Amino acid sequence: MTVGTELLLGDTIDTNAAHAGLVLAARGIRVARRATVGDRAEDIRDAVDQALARTGLVLVTGGLGPTRDDITRDVVATLLDCPLQFDESLWDALVARWAAVGRTISESNRSQAMVPAGATVLPNRRGSAPGLWIETARGLVILLPGVPIELETLLAEEVLPRLEERLGLRSIRSRVLRTSGIPESRLGELLGPLEESLAPVTLAYLPDQTGVDLRLTAWELEGSAADAALDQAETIVREAAGEWVYATGLRDLAEVVLAGLRERGMTLVTAESCTGGLVGARVTAIAGSSDVYLGGIVSYANEVKITQLGVHASLIVAHGAVSEPVVAAMARGAAERLGARVAIAVSGVAGPGGGTPEKPVGTVCFGWSIDGSVTTATAGFAGDREQVRIRSAQAALLGLHRRLTGR
Ligand code: AMP
Ligand code: MG
Repeated sequence: MTVGTELLLGDTIDTNAAHAGLVLAARGIRVARRATVGDRAEDIRDAVDQALARTGLVLVTGGLGPTRDDITRDVVATLLDCPLQFDESLWDALVARWAAVGRTISESNRSQAMVPAGATVLPNRRGSAPGLWIETARGLVILLPGVPIELETLLAEEVLPRLEERLGLRSIRSRVLRTSGIPESRLGELLGPLEESLAPVTLAYLPDQTGVDLRLTAWELEGSAADAALDQAETIVREAAGEWVYATGLRDLAEVVLAGLRERGMTLVTAESCTGGLVGARVTAIAGSSDVYLGGIVSYANEVKITQLGVHASLIVAHGAVSEPVVAAMARGAAERLGARVAIAVSGVAGPGGGTPEKPVGTVCFGWSIDGSVTTATAGFAGDREQVRIRSAQAALLGLHRRLTGR
């Protein structure tokens, strides 16, 4: 059950329900029903009451904050007849959490240290509202905060392990192979004929903006038998589509690229136009990137391409700012001026304006300089401005990855 008037109004999209559904299903727990209610006491009470009448387990998210509209804890405590008690050690931990970042906690946060009698506190390392695990004769009620990152962490680290233990669930092992640069349909053509040979492992295709994750799942197997079946399936998948696989597990492509550069003792810089720093952001999102990534220039205006990267004005006049000669010069200029062995350059038409018949919206040019040798490519991406930019940043990293690994 998700609680929040903003969810009913549609201001906030209910991602918590979707996330909980996914992770519960992965552990073999069937969600019988889900509901959303506003921040109104009688609505929350009725919904929990009715859910408990139907099923033995109710998961509630939202309404555990410190403000007046956060009433889930009080309402559920009253319904289940477990009076709230002030938990001194929980309060001390909250005070310490705030003090650690040099702040003084508000008195209104005291509500987050109130615990229904007999409930187990699920510590929240991402925020101040702890989860609450309340076992009663009527069933099990689990209260979790609404902030998605807090909900996700608590579910993974506190709730699922406890549910596994209590319900005797078998965890289902799976492994993800990440691909990029190949559409889902092509992957399906390559792998479809092999899917039966993967049994008892199944294959799911999970596309997003930056590529397709291949999720291999070993059903009905445990421990080393599951791992062996996954190894075998991974070998079969890699034989057919290995060229497109850049990682095992949920690693970002930027992390893989950084590791490849580090291994070769190479340093990286970026020169970005239409992506406005997105490639640099992807790279610097990875902890420890500083030993490889030196920095970048967001050369959005032609003037900056010319003065900061040394691109000749005549190249821009002759070919346009979105052209392979210009990205080649950007990559060369960035590597030389910033003193790195490797440079990535991007220039494109992100839209919605600026397209021409020869260079429609979505046309993006890439340049890669590796030890002075420069290669370029041009791609056409579908989608709106945001999609074009996200796909461009991914393609820039992918192009470098493929060049480093000789694919
Ligand atoms: P709350 O725990 O109700 O104070 O919610 C804290 C924040 O999490 C608010 O910004 C909510 O909009 C957001 N939030 C609450 N429930 C959900 C949900 N089901 N899905 C996505 N975001 C949510
Ligand atoms: Mg709320």
